[in-house]
Amino acid sequence: MAIWRWYARKSFILKITVGFLLGIIIGAIFGPSADVLSPFGDLFLRLLKMIVVPLIFLTLIVSVNNSSPKELGRIGGKIFPYYLISTAIAVGLGLVIAKLINPGLGLQMPKNATMEVPEAPSIIDIILQIVPSNIIDSMAKGDILSIVFVALIIGFSISFIRHSKDPKMNEWGNLLMKFTEAGSEVTFRILNGILQYAPIGVLGITATSIGNQGMDTLQSLAKYVGASYLGVAIQMLIVFPLILFLFKVPIIKFFLHTREAIMTAFVTCSSLGTLPVTIKCALKAGISDRVANFTLPIGATVNMNGSAIHFGVGVVLAAEIVGYDLSVGAIIGIILTGTLAAVGTAGVPGAGLIGMSIVFTQAGLPIEIVGLTAGVNVITDMVFTMCNVTGDIVGAAIVDKNEQRVKGEIGRTLEKENRSAAEL
Ligand code: ASP
Repeated sequence: MAIWRWYARKSFILKITVGFLLGIIIGAIFGPSADVLSPFGDLFLRLLKMIVVPLIFLTLIVSVNNSSPKELGRIGGKIFPYYLISTAIAVGLGLVIAKLINPGLGLQMPKNATMEVPEAPSIIDIILQIVPSNIIDSMAKGDILSIVFVALIIGFSISFIRHSKDPKMNEWGNLLMKFTEAGSEVTFRILNGILQYAPIGVLGITATSIGNQGMDTLQSLAKYVGASYLGVAIQMLIVFPLILFLFKVPIIKFFLHTREAIMTAFVTCSSLGTLPVTIKCALKAGISDRVANFTLPIGATVNMNGSAIHFGVGVVLAAEIVGYDLSVGAIIGIILTGTLAAVGTAGVPGAGLIGMSIVFTQAGLPIEIVGLTAGVNVITDMVFTMCNVTGDIVGAAIVDKNEQRVKGEIGRTLEKENRSAAEL
């Protein structure tokens, strides 16, 4: 009991760092035999996955009801352009960095033509799949975009009947809202329990991935991995701080409050799995729950700055391997498809490979090269996911900052109006 109390009191970031470092050491010493620890990592990922569907569903319904439709429209009108513009810039960044590093020079087309290549759905399919043909089925499959869609329409419907003129409707609407709020509270309690287990899970995940990652693949694709890391470093250390600075969000405080989410994203390679921690960190960073609860579940599903860098770097790699010169037209096409493919990329480990197949198909590049990069995907996915999650919180932080300003202005205008009415 005393040990438990001692453990529970230690900071999350300390515990998770210790888990991570021990994982690296064990993985490096024992190699593939570190696989015996994989159940510990699997358990952590299963727990996160277990909580993510109820969490997204309930928090979105509650947040839709905590804001007026006008407010939601305003927040949505700010966050979506941010997602699209920052993603397009990230694809461009990936292209530029890779062009400087030339990751494909000296590499050859993979001879092994039977390499497994992920299937690439079309952009139209991705958009159509947002509307589920069966709500229960998409919940069971954990189809997040559909769940977001359903949660939003249920949230809006509850808000509608809560504000209806019929008292019976009001009563039902309020009852449903109370029920959802209580459920959401329960999911957060469960989440706190899961996070106590996180360090052990992180140890399991890290030991197995380090233990299994063959050094040979890493060496041959070292430039590709280097370009990916450099792209993410520029996004994390220059682009994001610059955006925060422009919107007057204190940069150091932002990173101090969000480091747990950044670290969790790094080890889980899943924006969605990290979402519970992301929301917690955003609230800790002072972002209002109205903005955090509405934008972060959507961001974890559609906003993928890191994956966008991945596509940019990947395209240059493939173009260099096959000796294909990228024209300005081709680059513009790649930025467009890259942005859409990033939106369609699910926040789960390895999903970027599917997005990359979409971009390659549209650009006329051989998708066998996606298979070639799959060997080092564990290593690159870590930083891409970290960047995806950070981008989500940056978006929430700047929209929140802007909302505070708008609210301040509305408050001042109302005050002025009241004063002139009193003077009349
Ligand atoms: N693993 C990434 C994420 O969850 C997606 C990707 O593979 O690019 O955000």
